[in-house]
Amino acid sequence: MTQPLTHNCLNCLEPLYHDFKLHYLWQFKKELFPVMCSECQNHFDSLEATYQDKTDRCQKCSFPLSDEPDTDFVSRKYYDNGQLICYDCLRWMAIYPEELINHQSLYPYGETIQQWLNSYKTEGDILKGHIMAGSLQKIYKTYPNHHWVVLPSSKESLEHRQFHATGLLLDFAGIPYSCPFKYIGDGKKQALKDRQKRIEMPQPFEVIDQEINESSIIIFDDVYTTGTTLLHAKSALAARYPDKNIQSITISR
Ligand SMILES: [Zn+2]
Ligand SMILES: [Zn+2]
Repeated sequence: MTQPLTHNCLNCLEPLYHDFKLHYLWQFKKELFPVMCSECQNHFDSLEATYQDKTDRCQKCSFPLSDEPDTDFVSRKYYDNGQLICYDCLRWMAIYPEELINHQSLYPYGETIQQWLNSYKTEGDILKGHIMAGSLQKIYKTYPNHHWVVLPSSKESLEHRQFHATGLLLDFAGIPYSCPFKYIGDGKKQALKDRQKRIEMPQPFEVIDQEINESSIIIFDDVYTTGTTLLHAKSALAARYPDKNIQSITISR
C-alpha cells in the first residue's frame, strides 16, 4: 500500500491527520494523500477559485485586470476585437502571431504563491514542490497528447540552486517532459532585470533537434512576468516546429 508523502503539512509543518480512504488501496500516487493541512489548502484553493472568474482577467494570459479609475496602465483593461486583454498581450499581439500568445496560469501572483516560490525556489525547500503536484496533475489531464517542455536554467542558476526548479515540479507531478533548448543568454537573473530590460532582452534560447511526436507543445514555467522569456522560447520553437501548436502554462502570472 502506498504511504503518505509527509505526516506534517508541507506549508506550515502542523501535523497532518491522514484519513484512510478505500481508494488509496488501488491508487498508487503519493499525492492522493494530502500534503497540506486544510487551512493551508484553503489559501491555495481560494487562489484557484479566484482564477475561475474570467471576467476580470486577460483572456489570453489570465492576468487580473481592473477598470477602477486609479488602475495603473499594466493592470487596466484593453480590448482587441472585442476580446478583453492586458497591456502586455496587446503589445505582444503587434509583434507575435496571436496563437503564440495563448497562456494559462494556475494561480494569481499573490502572497501565498510568493511565499511558496521563495521557500521552494530561493531557499531550496524542495519538498514544497509537492504542493503543486495535485494542480499540475489536474491540468496535465486536461491536455492529452501534448508534449511538455521546460526552459533551461542558466549554468549560474543551476550551480547555485543545484536543482532545476520547473523540471522538478513536473517530476513530482509525474509529468513527462523534455528540454529542447540550449541557453545562450547572459545568465543574469530575469527577476533582477527591470521591466524595460526584460522586454528588450535578445533571444536567449537555441532549439536543440529533438523528435517530438505530439502535434502540440506546452512550455511549462514557474512565473509569467511580462511574457518576454516565454515568447522568446515559443518563437524559437515555432521556427523549428512550424506545424505544431505551441502554448504555455505557468504556476503564476
Ligand atoms: Zn498547513
Ligand atoms: Zn494578457
